[in-house]
Amino acid sequence: MGSELETILGLIGESRRVLISSHENPDGDAIGSMLGLGLGLEKMGKEVVFYNKDGVPEILRFLPRSDRIGNSINDIKGTFDLVFAVDCTGTNRAGAEFEDFLKSGRGGKVVIMDHHQTNGPSADYQLLDPCSSSTGIIVYSVLKRLPVEIDSDIAKNLYTTIIGDTGSFRYSNTNPETFRVAAELVERGADPAEISEALFESEPLRKLKLIGLVLPTLEVSGDKRVASVYVDGGMYSQSGARREDSEGIVNIPRSIKGIEVAALFREESGKDGQVWKVSLRSKGDVDVAKIAEGFGGGGHKKAAGCSIGGSLEDVKKRMFSAIEEALH
Ligand code: 5GP
Ligand code: MN
Repeated sequence: MGSELETILGLIGESRRVLISSHENPDGDAIGSMLGLGLGLEKMGKEVVFYNKDGVPEILRFLPRSDRIGNSINDIKGTFDLVFAVDCTGTNRAGAEFEDFLKSGRGGKVVIMDHHQTNGPSADYQLLDPCSSSTGIIVYSVLKRLPVEIDSDIAKNLYTTIIGDTGSFRYSNTNPETFRVAAELVERGADPAEISEALFESEPLRKLKLIGLVLPTLEVSGDKRVASVYVDGGMYSQSGARREDSEGIVNIPRSIKGIEVAALFREESGKDGQVWKVSLRSKGDVDVAKIAEGFGGGGHKKAAGCSIGGSLEDVKKRMFSAIEEALH
């Protein structure tokens, strides 16, 4: 990260207007990293605009200043010196509208800040660290190098990135640095109990109704190494749940003892034909990022995703055979 970091610190120093975005269907790392970075840059006197194609999921609206994040590209006025796409393997992850905006030339220099393994060259600069548990930890190390006091608003946002991406310090991406950074963020005003309650004990009732519909779809392979569930459009309408409420549901098949690969298939709306978003999780040696890459997606060794067009039956068949191949 060394020389890129120096370059990016220089770019930040010279910039006046900064645009920050993150991946579609944002999670806690995406939103927390955007806000942590942006609120930090504002302390340096920069003018910051926040954009995410899908806005902020309801469960993350407790994050300080999350109301600053707009979801309409047409609301973005003027030109920028610097654009950040955080928690994104490429600018395409932030959506077609964002990429069109960049092509219009109003964005200035584009920087990817990310902790994923798989990255295509789609920006002027890339600050990548696959060893960081969350993108928020990369943001933290950038802010530490700038004349920025990490206040409680920034601390809460960055702490949430860690809790989200490490599953509350449970996943294999948890390392000593994770705890060191988390400890400093707690010292600076992030309250672990308050954030855990907001993230894990504030679910809308409709989400539990959705889970009730999803559970009967559980399928376990003959050798008990692969488990999956799905969410189709009918389940959303029946439960009143939204797309964002299916976040985390992949943890249901993942939680089964002995399972090595868990998959969640989600029907996507508003696209041409039938498209299924697949979330993959690995508990063993299988690199699910490689499987996802085979379908044009990506992610981490133990958590990855991709989109596949076709009927559910067809998509499941293709995915199961890719998983089967990876297991052998
Ligand atoms: P999730 O299953 O929670 O949506 O995503 C798991 C991980 O895979 C996250 O790090 C996410 O950024 C990444 N990911 C999910 N879907 C895609 C995709 O379509 N393309 C890429 N490159 N990464 C993805
Ligand atoms: Mn992340």
